[in-house]
Amino acid sequence: MRSAPVSSLRGIGPKSVALLDRLGITTVFDLALHLPFRYEDRTKRRPLGELANGDACLVWGRIVESSSRGRGGFVVRISDSSGSLNVRFIHSFPSQRQRLVPGNWLEAYGRVRMDGAGLEMIHPEWRVSTDELLLPKSEFRPIYHTVKGLSSARLRQLVRPSLSELNLLPVYSHDGLSLAEAVRIAHNPDPQKNLRDVAVARKRIALDEMLGYQLVRDAEYRELKRQTTEPLHRRQGLGKQLLAHLGFDLTRAQSRVVKDVLEDLARERPMYRLVQGDVGSGKTVIAAFAALRACENGSQTAVMAPTELLAEHHHRTLSEWLSPLGIEVNLLLGKQPARVRRARARGIATGSDHVIIGTHALFQSSVTFNNLGLIIIDEQHRFGVHQRMQLRDKGRLPHQLVMTATPIPRTLTMSLYANMDVSEIDELPPGRSPVETVVQAPNRRANVIEGAERVLAGGGQVYWVVPAIQESDEPDLRSVDSVLDEIRQALPHRHSAGLHGKLSDAEKVARMERFRSGRVQLLVATTVVEVGVDVPNATLMVIDCADRMGLAQLHQLRGRVGRGCQQSFCVLLHDGSLSEEAHARLSVLVETNDGFEVAQRDLELRGWGDLLGAKQSGYGGFKVFDPLEHRGVIEEARTLCNELKEDQAELALQILGTWAPGHREYTSA
Ligand code: ADP
Ligand code: MG
Repeated sequence: MRSAPVSSLRGIGPKSVALLDRLGITTVFDLALHLPFRYEDRTKRRPLGELANGDACLVWGRIVESSSRGRGGFVVRISDSSGSLNVRFIHSFPSQRQRLVPGNWLEAYGRVRMDGAGLEMIHPEWRVSTDELLLPKSEFRPIYHTVKGLSSARLRQLVRPSLSELNLLPVYSHDGLSLAEAVRIAHNPDPQKNLRDVAVARKRIALDEMLGYQLVRDAEYRELKRQTTEPLHRRQGLGKQLLAHLGFDLTRAQSRVVKDVLEDLARERPMYRLVQGDVGSGKTVIAAFAALRACENGSQTAVMAPTELLAEHHHRTLSEWLSPLGIEVNLLLGKQPARVRRARARGIATGSDHVIIGTHALFQSSVTFNNLGLIIIDEQHRFGVHQRMQLRDKGRLPHQLVMTATPIPRTLTMSLYANMDVSEIDELPPGRSPVETVVQAPNRRANVIEGAERVLAGGGQVYWVVPAIQESDEPDLRSVDSVLDEIRQALPHRHSAGLHGKLSDAEKVARMERFRSGRVQLLVATTVVEVGVDVPNATLMVIDCADRMGLAQLHQLRGRVGRGCQQSFCVLLHDGSLSEEAHARLSVLVETNDGFEVAQRDLELRGWGDLLGAKQSGYGGFKVFDPLEHRGVIEEARTLCNELKEDQAELALQILGTWAPGHREYTSA
């Protein structure tokens, strides 16, 4: 059923197939899972005397009066023991009007509006009868999201045959419902009952879907753990040397995570571990210890960064830490001259390059490693559920380490990353203090600049982040150029400078260095400063057009201050008036400094979108599961997933096949 095309259903021709396709519906299963987003309550006729403006409802009454109003249509007045109502027909045929006469009974469904004279129902769905005892065709009529050219009524017709195919779904009951029963209820709730049944049914479907998702993840994990690879053992004790010249002690959390990673590496099963840690929690050092262990074993490490800028940053840090130990750390970037890239390719192929840092894209293209033992993926703050990289080296599967800042709320990690082992750095290095955050309206710009002046006068430094480089790039966004002008005019006696991605690398480094050394006091920058800049003396971060940025990014930017012993501040400036939604988002940052909390709240406000990387993993996306509506379902599915794969592998396989037909290779071995 999962992969049968909609065209296999009777009554669905090429035109409907095309329309359904626009709704993202291609299979019978897709169609059956296209659930209504609301229902029209046609189960009860409402007494006419109780109607209120705006009600959409079913009414029933005796026609007491009828008259033609010319262009105003045809109006009948109906009454029951409680009151009366005017019903207006915009288009009507003479044959219809002949029956809309006093003495007959009218049933109508529509919305009631206040008209000058009283309540009126316009252009309803209706039927007329001579029989006072005619019963309503009681139903909760499903209303579907649809596209132009496909009416909700037509869609109802198309959905119907898909529901008879539900018998093919795996049968297992949870909370007294099978998946098929739940889907049927969601489309056609029992008119004898109430819509609470629908919520229960939807939750049941969401549970199945989440279960399918977790079974896929679990299958991937098992599949990976069936493979063998070369263990990376402790050999020369380079770790001790690294510790000695880092310049700081590892936090307890970092030591614990390093230990997790090194233990994984020493196994014959490939490591597939996620390291979660808030911005600035010190994830890079974990990567350094892992790479070091690979080098000790004569294996190469590939470090993948999401951007070239981050790759360069990692290159600086890792070279500083690893080069003194005799390790060759190199960069591979798309923008390098062909000559340099050829040299790199040689170094990678011969094995003279030990640690190679580049972007995902670059590694996925034609790079051949001599002896790749470890892949480290830095996801920065991007969300995503990770897949095994397809980078292999002569058939050997490298160990993999993924680092991520605020991917998903802590509570969900174990379930959603069922395909990885997870370690968390739940502690910041010493000396970080929470940043006090405020939201400021555009009419407060002058005050914000005054605030910056106070910080500068006190010997501190200021970041001022803007979304664009030049006015012309994005006319309605603030730019580095315009804000720099503004600030130089207001604070002519201060040294301010601009920083953005279009500058040459050398210029970027030079300007950053001037800021680091304190010669530049105020830095107006694009979000390039998001990347690993460390200036403890900077205590104020102003973010312009903050309402245009995502929470994760704002949190990351804020992490640039609060690195010294002074109290630090973050000002979120917005342009124009703030929508309620934007206000709620920015308030999250005012209320908390905890990146995980930020992620949790972000999800609640923004929904999940493709957060789970469902598309990229080939899973197809969630159809029914909604993290707000079905909060509890994730953990419930986790438990079920574990039970099923232990005791009912065959059923687990069927459920997995229902939700992810591409993953049939699941076995319980
Ligand atoms: P992130 O987790 O955001 O990638 P980084 O690895 O970039 O964090 O580390 C942020 C900063 O903290 C760096 O300057 C790093 O050198 C420093 N750092 C990391 N660990 C410690 C520690 N245990 N003590 C002091 N500073 C540390
Ligand atoms: Mg980092």
